[in-house]
Amino acid sequence: MTTPQTRYERLVDRLASTALMGIALLPAVVYLFVGLSSADQLAADNARIQAERLSRVIASNPEGWRFAQERLIDQIEAIQHPGERSSVFDSQGKTLIPPVGDPCRQFCLTHRAPLLDFGSVVGELRLETEVTPTVIRSAVIGILGLLAGLLLIRILHYRIIQPLRQARITNVELAFRDPLTHLPNRRLLMDRLEQALLASERTAEYGTLLLLDLDNFKILNDTLGHDVGDQLLLGVAQRLKDTVREHDTIARLGGDEYVVILEGMGEHETEAANRTEIVAEKIRGIFTAPFVIAADGRIHHSTASIGIALFRGQELSMEVLLKQADLALYQAKASGRNAVRFFNAQMQAAIDAHLAMEAALREAISRKELKLYYQPQIDHCGKLLGAEALLRWFPHGLAPVPPDKFIPLAEETGLILPIGRWVLQTACEQLKVWASEPAMRDQRIAVNVSARQFHQAQFVDDLRNILLATGTDPTRLELELTESIVLQEVDEAIRRMRQIKQLGVTFSLDDFGTGYSSLSYLKQLPLDQIKIDRSFIRDIATDQNDSAIVRAIIVMANSLGLEIVAEGVETPAQLEFLQNCGCTTYQGFLLGKPMPIEAWPDYLTQNTSHLFEPAET
Ligand code: C2E
Ligand code: CA
Ligand code: CA
Repeated sequence: MTTPQTRYERLVDRLASTALMGIALLPAVVYLFVGLSSADQLAADNARIQAERLSRVIASNPEGWRFAQERLIDQIEAIQHPGERSSVFDSQGKTLIPPVGDPCRQFCLTHRAPLLDFGSVVGELRLETEVTPTVIRSAVIGILGLLAGLLLIRILHYRIIQPLRQARITNVELAFRDPLTHLPNRRLLMDRLEQALLASERTAEYGTLLLLDLDNFKILNDTLGHDVGDQLLLGVAQRLKDTVREHDTIARLGGDEYVVILEGMGEHETEAANRTEIVAEKIRGIFTAPFVIAADGRIHHSTASIGIALFRGQELSMEVLLKQADLALYQAKASGRNAVRFFNAQMQAAIDAHLAMEAALREAISRKELKLYYQPQIDHCGKLLGAEALLRWFPHGLAPVPPDKFIPLAEETGLILPIGRWVLQTACEQLKVWASEPAMRDQRIAVNVSARQFHQAQFVDDLRNILLATGTDPTRLELELTESIVLQEVDEAIRRMRQIKQLGVTFSLDDFGTGYSSLSYLKQLPLDQIKIDRSFIRDIATDQNDSAIVRAIIVMANSLGLEIVAEGVETPAQLEFLQNCGCTTYQGFLLGKPMPIEAWPDYLTQNTSHLFEPAET
C-alpha cells in the first residue's frame, strides 16, 4: 500500500538531490573556511560524511547567521502542517527559536548570538499540535558547513512519533509482540529463526543473527525515568525498521536488546560476512543522530554494541546461535562498546578456557590449592619490618596460575569474597603464630584487599570477627588498598576506613602514582603508608622523570607524616638512590622474593644488612 507523499517528503526528495551536490563540494568548503584541514583530513571528513549517508541538506544562504536562522524557519514552516506549532530546541532542551506567534521569536531571529558550530547538532525541531501537546513529528537539525558563504543545514533525522495510546493491541498480538515497540517478541523470534534456518537449508545460503544491545541504557533509564527509556527504545525500534529490508526480522528480546535476522546473504561465508558487516555498520550508524525524546523534551545520544553469528542450514541449534551472538556481543562490549563483533572459534575457545578456570577456582579453597607467599619489607637499616602476603594458586595437575590472571576473574565472578576472607584468615593465623616467636612478634603482615571485598557491606564485621577468632593483634595487620578502590566512593570509603582504623588495623595505599594521585583526597584519607608503584622504581636510576616523581612523592609523604615503601627494588643502584631520597622502607627481589612460610627460617638466617652499610666517604 502506498501513501500519498506528504509535503515534507516531497520537499525532502527535492532537496536530496541538492544534498549530493553539497556533499561533493563540502571538502573544498571545509578547507576554504577552516583553512587547517590537510588533504588526508579532508578525505576522512568526506568519507565520514558519505558514510553517514546524508539524505537531506536543507538550506543555504549568503547573508550570515541571521539569514540562516530565518531560512531555517522558512524550511521548518514548509514542513509544518496546518494547526501545528514549531519550535527549535538546543541539545539541552532550551528554546532556540520559540513557536510562531511568540513575541520572542523575532527577537531570537534577529539578535541571537551565533549559535551554530560546524558539524554540530543545532538542536531539535519539534512540531506539535494544539490539541495534543505530544510531539507528533520531530527532526534533529545540524549544521553541515559553509559553501562560499552559503550555509548548509541538514536534517539529520526525521521521524513521526506515534502517540502511544493510538496503539491498540489485540490479544493475539500480545502473545507474539512486544507491547512497547510492537516488534516480534522472543516467542515469535524463535519461530522466525526456525523458518530462517529451514530456508537456509533449502537455499544453501547463509543467514545472519545480529544481537544488538544499547550501551549504558540502564543509566539513562534509572536516572531519567522509564518514560524516557521507553521512548528511546521506541526510537531505536523505528530506526531499525527504517534501516533493514522489509522481509528481515527485527525482534525485541526485552530490556534494551534487539535481534535482527538477515536472510539470503549468499553461499560463501566471506561474502555473507562482508554483507553482514555492511548492514551492521549501517545499524550502528542509526545512532549517529541523537534521539529526540518527548517525555523530557530533550535530545539524547545513544550507541549500541552488536554481536553477530552466521548460520547456514540447521547445523547449529537456535539456542547455540543465540549464545554465539551473545558471546560476540560480550566481546563488543568488552572492547569498549559502540562496536560490532562476529562470533569466531577463538572466541569460543577463550570463553571455554575462562569458564574452566572459573569452575576450577570455585573449588580452589576447598581443595587447598591456594597458598600465601610472604615477601619481606625492610627498613633503612636493613631490619625486617614484616611482609606482604601475596596469593598463589596451584591447581592440582596444572601449572600455577599467576595472580594477575586469576584475581581479576575472582573479582568478576564474586569469588574474591570467599578467597579474600581466606587470605585475611590465613594472614591473621600467621600473625598469631609469629606472636609466640620472640624474633617475629613485632613483624606485621600487609594484605591486599580488592575493590569488591572492601565495598562489601559486611567487610568490617568479617574483619572484626577474624581478628577476634584468631586472637591476632590488629596493629600488626595492614590493609593495602589501591587508589581506584578508595576513589569509587570516597566518602563511603573514608567512613569505612575510619571504622577499621578503630579496630587498630593500619592502611597502605598501593600502586601509588599509577592512578589519579590527587593530593586533595590524599590528605583526607586515614592512611598510614604509601607504596610507590614499581613502575617508577624500575628506571629510577636512569630516567630523570621517574626519579623526579619519586623524589616528589617521598617529600609529599614525609610532609603528610606517612610511611613510604618503595616496591620492586631489584638493584643496589635503585636502593641507593631511594636511600638518598629519604625513603625508609623497601620491598623487592633484591631484599627477598615472595616465598612460602616454610622458606622463612632459611631466609632469616641470610643477612641483607650489607646492602645498608653506610657508604664510605
Ligand atoms: P601488588 O599488590 O602490587 O603486589 C606486588 C607484586 O610485585 C607481586 O606480584 C610481587 O611478586 C611483585 N614484586 C615484588 N617485588 C618485585 C620486584 O622486585 N620485581 C618485580 N618485577 N616484581 C616484584 P604478584 O605476587 O604476582 O601479585 C600481583 C598482584 O596480584 C598484586 O600486585 C596484587 O594486586 C594482586 N594480589 C596478590 N595477592 C593478592 C591477594 O591476596 N588479594 C588481592 N586482592 N590481590 C592480590
Ligand atoms: Ca600490594
Ligand atoms: Ca603494589
